[in-house]
Amino acid sequence: MKAQILEPGAVLGVLGGGQLGAMFAGAARRLGYRVAVWDPDRDAPAHQLAAYSFTAPFLDVETRDRFSQTVHAVTYEWENIPADLCEWLERRHPVRPSGFVLRIIQDRIQQKQFLEGHNLPVAPFAVIESPDQLPEAIRSIGFPALCKTARSGYDGKGQWFIQDPSDVAQVSRELYACTRDGQRWILEQAVTFEREVSVLVVSGPNGNCRTYPPVDNRHERGILRLTLAPTSLPVETAANASHLAVQAVSALNSPGVFCVEFFHTADGALFINEIAPRPHNSGHYTLDACTVSQFEQQVRILCGVMIGEVQLLRPAAMVNLIGNEVSAVTAGSGYSDLMAIPGALLHLYGKRTIRAGRKMGHVTFLAEERSAAEERALGLIKQLSERPFSALAGEHVPVQKTEPRDV
Ligand code: ATP
Ligand code: MG
Repeated sequence: MKAQILEPGAVLGVLGGGQLGAMFAGAARRLGYRVAVWDPDRDAPAHQLAAYSFTAPFLDVETRDRFSQTVHAVTYEWENIPADLCEWLERRHPVRPSGFVLRIIQDRIQQKQFLEGHNLPVAPFAVIESPDQLPEAIRSIGFPALCKTARSGYDGKGQWFIQDPSDVAQVSRELYACTRDGQRWILEQAVTFEREVSVLVVSGPNGNCRTYPPVDNRHERGILRLTLAPTSLPVETAANASHLAVQAVSALNSPGVFCVEFFHTADGALFINEIAPRPHNSGHYTLDACTVSQFEQQVRILCGVMIGEVQLLRPAAMVNLIGNEVSAVTAGSGYSDLMAIPGALLHLYGKRTIRAGRKMGHVTFLAEERSAAEERALGLIKQLSERPFSALAGEHVPVQKTEPRDV
C-alpha cells in the first residue's frame, strides 16, 4: 500500500516556536503548506509565520484538542515537549519523529543507555539519582567530569564541570539546591577531544537514510560558536562518523531529521555526545549551501514525500549571533559592512528581547574554499568579541513583529 502523502495546502503542526520552528515554517510555507505553531511564549519567532497560533501551556487539554483538529501532521522543534502530548497526538496524526523517540532523547540517561545498548560508542557515564550519589559516581568516572541534568538542558544549561576534588562539595550543594521530585543527573567523563563533529541524518518514511557531509563545530561556554562545512577530518574518519550516525538513527526506527554530535579524540576515536531529533544549529548552513535544507527535509518527511538531495554546493562557515552580539550586525556600520562581504548571508530570528546567551541570529559565509569561508567567519567572531558592550541585555532588536493570532 502506498503511504499517504500530504499535499500543499495541508496544515503542518509544530510543537515549539523558536528559531528552528520558524525556519521549519518558512520551508513549509515555501512549499505551499500552512503551519500551526504551538508555543506558550507569545513572542516565539515561529508565531510570526503561523497560519494558526496556539499559546496556551502544553498541558492545556482544550488547546490540545483544538490543535489536533487543526493539523494533519505534527513535528517538534525541541526536546522538552511533553512526550505524553506527542503520544496522544500520534494516536490521531502522523507525528515525526515518533513520541517514542522524543521520550528516549529527552532524558540524557535513557539516551546514553539506548546508544550503549546498541553498541554505539559513548564516553563512560554514571547515573545519579540523588545528590549524595555524586562522590560515588565521581569515583567510577574520575576527573574531569561533567554533571548534567537528565532532562531540560540545552545550550550547555544545567551542566557543571567538575575539574578536581575541590569542586565536588560545591556541585553537590548546587544539586541539592535544584533538586525536584524525580530529578536525576548524568555524570559523564569529560572527553579530551581534538574536535567536535556533527552529522545530519535524514531518515525517510521508508527507512531510507541520507546524510549531509559531516561538519566541524566549535563551542564557547557550552554554546555553538562556529560550524565549518565540510569537516576537515580524514576521509575515512568522516565516513565512519556518517556510518555511526546512520546506525544510531536507524536504531531509533522513526522518520525524521536527526543530528548526531560527536567528539573526535587525538587518537582517532569517535564518541557520540548526543542526538537531536530535529534540525540542528550546526545544520543551519544547509539553508544556503545545500541542494535542500534540513528544514525542507523535515517538511518532506512530515508530508510523506521523497527526501531531498543532501549535496553541499559550496563550502560554508556559520557563526552564531549570541545575546547582544546581534546588534553588532544590525546597527551602525556593522550592518552595511556585513552586507559588503562576498558570500555573507544574515539570518535574524525575530526575537524581540536580547538576553545573555540567547541565540538571536546567525551568519553563513559561502566561499569557493572552506578556508576562505572560515577566514571571514573568524573575522566576524573577532569583531564580535572586540565590540564594546554598549547593547545591554533586555534591549529590543529592531524587527517587525505582529501579535500571534490565537485560533
Ligand atoms: P546543545 O543544545 O548545544 O546541543 P546541550 O545543552 O544539549 O547543548 P551538550 O551537547 O551535552 O549540551 O554539551 C554542550 C557542549 O559542552 C558540547 O558540545 C561540548 O563542547 C561540551 N561537552 C558536553 N559534554 C561533554 C563531555 N562529556 N566531554 C567534553 N565536553 C563536553
Ligand atoms: Mg549538544
